[in-house]
Amino acid sequence: MKVSEKWDKVYNNIRNVCERTNRKTQEVNVVAVTKYVTNERAQEGVDVGLVHLGENRYEGLIEKQKNIIGEAKWHFIGTLQSRKVKDVIDHIDYLHSLDRLSLAKEINKRAQKKVNCFVQVNVSDEEQKHGLSPQKVFNFIEQVSNYDKINVVGLMTMAPNTSDEVVLRQCFRDLAHLRNEIHKHGFLHAPCTELSMGMSNDYEIAIEEGATFVRIGSALVGE
Ligand SMILES: *Cc1c(COP(=O)(O)O)cnc(C)c1O
Repeated sequence: MKVSEKWDKVYNNIRNVCERTNRKTQEVNVVAVTKYVTNERAQEGVDVGLVHLGENRYEGLIEKQKNIIGEAKWHFIGTLQSRKVKDVIDHIDYLHSLDRLSLAKEINKRAQKKVNCFVQVNVSDEEQKHGLSPQKVFNFIEQVSNYDKINVVGLMTMAPNTSDEVVLRQCFRDLAHLRNEIHKHGFLHAPCTELSMGMSNDYEIAIEEGATFVRIGSALVGE
């Protein structure tokens, strides 16, 4: 299926969710996750008007950036190894995976300008997953204020790999609560207004629970 047809479907779903939850579609930014697809497929996405593109590896990011024609904002959505920071950090508009102080420190040392970061949270505290456990997030964000290149725009999570709607919804709801708490605190370096949550299989639930960035790969640009 062409990307344009997939986008029609996804957009339609997003519009429906927004209608029934009284949200505006413009509040939901769609990040087209292009990590598994060719430059041509990613280009199709840009050509239908998708501006946010997500990659999870340095090589993929650079390859896409060399080849894509048109306006794009670049999102790094994968684990970022500290030794890759210097290569990646000035090439992206958003980092979705800030999850440790050593990474914040390295970003601060290498970045030429402020970096929009999501703090990645392991909401369900699964052992094999990246991200901070929810209880550690507040303290982490306080500590990050020492690094003036870091702007915490919001929180990000990957929901558990399940089709159980109750579990997914609870995960998204917990992240939204945590975001609200941090936002209320009024940190200058952490406006924390955004929520990056929801992928191909669960983006509708995530939007119902307040997602402002959904990261969609297979349902949008997958072959
Ligand atoms: C791959 C990936 C996605 C997109 O996954 P799909 O299920 O293909 O939509 C979203 N977020 C992260 C962090 C990813 O690694």
